[in-house]
Amino acid sequence: MLTVNAIAAPSATGSLVRTTIERRDVGPRDVLIEIRYAGICHSDIHTVRGEWGDVAYPLTVGHEIVGRVAEVGAEVTRHAVGDRVGVGCMVNSCRECENCRAGMEQYCLPGNTGTYAAVDRDGTITQGGYSTHVVVDEDFVLRVPEAIPYEKAAPLLCAGITTYSPLSHWKAGPGTRVAVVGMGGLGHMAVKIAAAKGAEVTVLSQTLGKKDDGLAFGAAHYYATSDPDTFDKLRNTFDLIVNTVSAPIDMHAYLSMLRLDGTLVSVGAPPEPLPVQVFTLFGNRRSFAGSGIGSIAETQEMLDFCAEHDIAPEIELITAGEVNAAYDRVLKSDVRYRFVIDINTL
Ligand SMILES: [Zn+2]
Ligand SMILES: [Zn+2]
Repeated sequence: MLTVNAIAAPSATGSLVRTTIERRDVGPRDVLIEIRYAGICHSDIHTVRGEWGDVAYPLTVGHEIVGRVAEVGAEVTRHAVGDRVGVGCMVNSCRECENCRAGMEQYCLPGNTGTYAAVDRDGTITQGGYSTHVVVDEDFVLRVPEAIPYEKAAPLLCAGITTYSPLSHWKAGPGTRVAVVGMGGLGHMAVKIAAAKGAEVTVLSQTLGKKDDGLAFGAAHYYATSDPDTFDKLRNTFDLIVNTVSAPIDMHAYLSMLRLDGTLVSVGAPPEPLPVQVFTLFGNRRSFAGSGIGSIAETQEMLDFCAEHDIAPEIELITAGEVNAAYDRVLKSDVRYRFVIDINTL
């Protein structure tokens, strides 16, 4: 066992505190990563506060992790000491089910092993990236291209892949019109990636407060959803709408903006069900879909795509002592656009 420094939640209501946690010994197929940066995802906050179900405390979260390989197991072939690597939302899967065999381990039927708060194969509870080191099976470790600025690479491992995967699956590209709902951590990456793929991108945000940013990130149009005219103006317009918002939306109003065979895909999830008027789906043969992160292969493809197209998240770099204050700001949507913890300060 390796005892390492970490930030952990002692309970659902307590502030995060500095502590130490244990990492397993490096097994034959494991990689020991010295973590340099860890992003703060809204999921981290939902999880530590018990809003997505009961979790075991103390808990260290964080699933946007980048660092350097410090040690490899005897059978590791994909990574070497010194490599710049990343870990995202999952650290294992069953590898035997239909979806795993199809290379879609994010949809592992018995469930993939989450990077934190999940039961690992050895029965321990996984602990996330707000920590100086992590031990991960080499198959779930990504190569992070040197072209991506180190501190900006972390949010790609969740926010990046969560938006890249549906944009790829529904073929955002030249000649397609893509709308992105919400301009937060996920939304701003969706705009950059969709624009880099060649789509005509429209941002649908509550207000026009981030319009200049949206246009700078590659959007061609920017509308306020607080203005009811927006929905009339944009009826039958989009091939794809990527909804990054976790609050309930008026499904009829949003679905009506899809043109023939268009899809509204949600990557944000409100806790309560969303009512859908099926007649709205009949018109234009519309679809309503969901999408969860991406496979390891697709995550690698996304990292390489971002390096090639020179795109990266906008971040605010913080110290280990600023994490509780950062959580408060995330809850107020007061961040442009992702907090990243400098793990050297831990
Ligand atoms: Zn996340
Ligand atoms: Zn599986």
